[in-house]
Amino acid sequence: MGKDFVLAMDQGTTSSRSIVFDATGGIRASVSQEYDQLYPQPGWVEHNPEAIWESQIATARAAILQAGLSPHDIAAIGITNQRETTVVWDKTSGRPVFNAIVWQCRRTSGLCAQLKQEGLESEVRQRTGLVLDAYFSGTKLRWILDHVDGARALAEEGGLCFGTVDSWLLYKLCGIHATDYSNASRTLLFNIHHLDWDDTLLGALKIPRAMLPEVKPSSFIYGITKVFGPEIPVAALCGDQQSALFGQAAFAPGECKNTYGTGCFLLMNTGERPVASHHGLLTTIAWGLDGKVEYALEGSVFIGGAVVQWLRDEMHLIDSAAQSETVAAEVEDNGGVYVVPAFVGLGAPHWNMSARGTITGLTRGSGRAHVVRAALESISFQSADVIRCMEAELKSRIPVLKVDGGAARNNLLMQHQADVLGAPVLRGQTTETTALGAAFLAGLAAGIWKEKNELRDIWREERRFVPQWNINRREAAVSGWRAAINRTIA
Ligand code: ADP
Repeated sequence: MGKDFVLAMDQGTTSSRSIVFDATGGIRASVSQEYDQLYPQPGWVEHNPEAIWESQIATARAAILQAGLSPHDIAAIGITNQRETTVVWDKTSGRPVFNAIVWQCRRTSGLCAQLKQEGLESEVRQRTGLVLDAYFSGTKLRWILDHVDGARALAEEGGLCFGTVDSWLLYKLCGIHATDYSNASRTLLFNIHHLDWDDTLLGALKIPRAMLPEVKPSSFIYGITKVFGPEIPVAALCGDQQSALFGQAAFAPGECKNTYGTGCFLLMNTGERPVASHHGLLTTIAWGLDGKVEYALEGSVFIGGAVVQWLRDEMHLIDSAAQSETVAAEVEDNGGVYVVPAFVGLGAPHWNMSARGTITGLTRGSGRAHVVRAALESISFQSADVIRCMEAELKSRIPVLKVDGGAARNNLLMQHQADVLGAPVLRGQTTETTALGAAFLAGLAAGIWKEKNELRDIWREERRFVPQWNINRREAAVSGWRAAINRTIA
């Protein structure tokens, strides 16, 4: 059968992972390795770019071995990555001039506030689909240019390269300086309508164009790497959330996925139309493929699976995350109890950063199981709120919700999600959806698969949760949740 394997490199915030997929989408090997998180000051987060590279390449070599293959068997490499994290390196030596500034890092929030005062926010929103926040790469890059000796002068001469983590890995693999549309759309510097770096924003942020990567489709032969010995094409780059959307085969407008991790990340495909949000959702490029780009709406829930960790570590109501399901199942319903985990405020559609958590509806009969159940339900209620916003923007109801991430293993939670949404929830057989998306994109460029519809057959349902509530029950539950939210905000 020969070269029908794809190596997906999934470079995440806390670990690097490499997975070898076969042509049926099956996982042949998976190896991951954690690397150091650097916290130089409260609120600041950095990674050593060389540690990112070394952990990534070590897992790649190990995964090929674990699969019982040789590098000759790998037809293509696809890269998916933690988004927005910013690396700057010297074009001549290839050495980073500073640590990678991680997406979580808040060091530029003051600069963002200043730029907002200067009136840049609406320009940012209109041109990039994002909000002016320290999360995205642009102000992180500006910080490096302002704080590293000689960086700005060198950048202006074209002596420095900026890249997100996909670019950095591509550079280490092939010596090429490029990125893809999905990653570019998270930088705060890329015009998602004109599909080019935006001169107005580059001017406002004082970023020299000479240091920016070339932007290419997500599924594309970027170059050939020889680091494994034989020549292997690097055939895809894609940001992690967009890659997960692709791995879920959510190819048509209206199709969407929710990843239930520490927080929840929801993305809805909006096809060739960039849909501007009225509810503070982000407009982002999903991928570049088949000679065009497609867009997505993105929303997140700050506290998703983290509420389960809170039940375990702070409230001591459960011993393990998985136990949340058995404890919640001890009662038939939440008994009128609602947990609103606004531990760090509330995101879309409420956008209230000063809100803090509440538990409402407690009676003499409320017990541990009610609180655990209500905490789980808060994950699905919050996710449904974001989906309802997306539906309002798109003016259509979602047909199904595809799910992945650690907390998607919880059947009770998934059933509640289906009940609250009134739409089926589909869990796929592959839990590694992010890596699968990168493998799909690379396999398409390398000719393992001819077109994306072939991939729909590879995506296999593991379990489908069908809504069981009638409309009255759903409305009653949702109005209970609304009342709890209103008390939280009041
Ligand atoms: P991340 O990538 O954000 O680290 P994961 O996808 O690994 O997250 O998911 C971990 C999160 O899912 C944790 O917050 C954990 O509390 C939650 N979780 C894991 N298993 C379950 C479960 N069976 N039920 C509910 N929550 C769970």
